[in-house]
Amino acid sequence: MSKDERYDVVVVGGGPNGMTIAAYLAKCGLSVCVLEERVECGGACETVEPMPGVRIYPHAMLMYAAPAPGFEQLELHKYGFRMVWKPGDAIAQGTAGSLTTEGIVPQSDEDKMGWAKLGGVLGQPPFTKELMRATFWCPPHPPEVEVTDENTPYMQVYKQRQPDVWTHELREWTMFDLMDEHCGTDPFKTVMAFAAWASGAAAHWEGVAIPAALCVHLLILPGTGNLSLPRGGLHGYFHAIHRCAVRHGAVVRTTCPVDEIIVADGRAVGVRLRENAALGGRKVWANKAVISAVDHQQTFLKMLGPQHLDPGFIQKVKDISLKNGTLYVTTYLTKKPLQWKPKFKAMEAVAVGPNKVPMGTVYPADSREIYYENAADVDGRKGNFTVPPERAMWFLTPSQAFNPTDCQGYHPRGHVSAAFEMNVTSPDYHVDGEDAQDKIKDEMDAFMRQAFSQALDGLDEDNIIHCWSATGREVEFRNTGLIGGTWSGSRHCKDQLWTQRPIPELARYRAPVDGLYTCHQTTGHPGALCLMAIPYNLMHILIEDGIAEPGDWWYPSPWYIPQQGKISAIPR
Ligand SMILES: Cc1cc2nc3c(=O)[nH]c(=O)nc-3n(C[C@H](O)[C@H](O)[C@H](O)COP(=O)(O)OP(=O)(O)OC[C@H]3O[C@@H](n4cnc5c(N)ncnc54)[C@H](O)[C@@H]3O)c2cc1C
Repeated sequence: MSKDERYDVVVVGGGPNGMTIAAYLAKCGLSVCVLEERVECGGACETVEPMPGVRIYPHAMLMYAAPAPGFEQLELHKYGFRMVWKPGDAIAQGTAGSLTTEGIVPQSDEDKMGWAKLGGVLGQPPFTKELMRATFWCPPHPPEVEVTDENTPYMQVYKQRQPDVWTHELREWTMFDLMDEHCGTDPFKTVMAFAAWASGAAAHWEGVAIPAALCVHLLILPGTGNLSLPRGGLHGYFHAIHRCAVRHGAVVRTTCPVDEIIVADGRAVGVRLRENAALGGRKVWANKAVISAVDHQQTFLKMLGPQHLDPGFIQKVKDISLKNGTLYVTTYLTKKPLQWKPKFKAMEAVAVGPNKVPMGTVYPADSREIYYENAADVDGRKGNFTVPPERAMWFLTPSQAFNPTDCQGYHPRGHVSAAFEMNVTSPDYHVDGEDAQDKIKDEMDAFMRQAFSQALDGLDEDNIIHCWSATGREVEFRNTGLIGGTWSGSRHCKDQLWTQRPIPELARYRAPVDGLYTCHQTTGHPGALCLMAIPYNLMHILIEDGIAEPGDWWYPSPWYIPQQGKISAIPR
């Protein structure tokens, strides 16, 4: 029988957040072990091949991480990370206009200039990267510091760099309020609102105007106006992080589900693996820290258990509300490629790849009324659609068919579409039960096809060779770390950001058990899509606690405030 293993740090969960913190800590010279339940790491950043030669993304495909310090600090270019710099020209696409039921509505100058201003593009010099880092790549302030207009990082950046955007209300507004102040046409605002809703912080939630708007800005590379897509997609990006972690000595063990975090004398000292884990020893010990890179429900309600936690804390964890929508993801293999309907032909000019696969757009964006109708079904009624397919909003992701090295779009038997995504009710909160969508999947697929066919030709049955679709529930099952059905890992409304996320006690990534930290999209600011943000933010805390001692390559967030009585993460 193999012996138990021992490391400085044990990371539970080999998704992008778990692997990134492993890479950071291994680079600090610590011995690190990552334990992953599934046969393959990557979490919700994976590529699958459901039919030989057809590679599709069941979930993550867009890059929201471009401003992350981790690219430099972990030197991901050395580990195979490659960005495709111009997969699609977002500015050209924007110029094509917003897609409405009547056709394309051009963006006004007010739309363009207002939006650019909000994103820091009009600063002299532009300060987009600084703004994004201030908003997402900075740990929440310590509990002894009251969060004010003066010390909120993005407020500081606007005040200094674009004072005409700064106002006290900025921290109270919805994104619609913000856009009403700075942009012009309703179709433009509806597109941006939908993109924000699908990216985390929704446009109709109060108090998250800037995080919501910047979620959308994150899709565009700061300063270049281009969408940023990693070669090999998000899974390719994950591979670079994985390689980096391994290169610095991290040990990665797959098929090793963790059942329990072992606590001795009030301190997390290791983990116990499930009986069927592919590792002889059943325990993996941690000299310095256990980092849970899986969701907060598993971490606190299952792996840690009530004997180590205050009942009030447990109740708070149970009460964390994840009630956002999730995504229904559909990809088609068709005989003839999909094509825009004649009234949207102008979109072809901005389509990418030799097959000109339609990509990257929101439909229908006539007005915010449509947005609200869709939001009411998903966020309000929490049931299946009451909006007719003609008014159901969807987006077509920038497909990975952007260069000839990607087999998507080049299948010898047909053409692979970009992924269509529609916000749907989270299964866990569906009024008709969590399998409500699965029970009527054929109907859902037909509904989707009708919705997409409002703007595209080629979705008739004769032309479809295969359709791969995943309901919210199926998306959850694909990824054992996903809960609540929500792809963003919980809502990003005011009480789920910054010092409130997911509850104030956990905001600085420390668990209420010594030696235990959290590093999952559900458990810390900003969560979800800003990949490499949680691990970077957590690094500040691990330095404060004397666990990590990085080399010269480390730099903290300029807006970081050290916690009293701790080691500052600002290098001396
Ligand atoms: C439909 C969909 C679309 C998305 N689109 C995008 C996108 O376009 N761009 C983007 O940036 N992000 C996107 N995301 C979100 C992105 O995938 C997540 O934010 C990211 O995967 C979160 O990383 P994580 O490491 O926190 O968690 P996860 O990816 O959930 O990883 C957690 C890992 O822990 C493992 N695990 C769980 N329990 C245990 C256990 N007990 N023991 C050991 N291991 C365990 C899981 O198997 C998993 O590998 C999307 C998500 C979904 C669902």
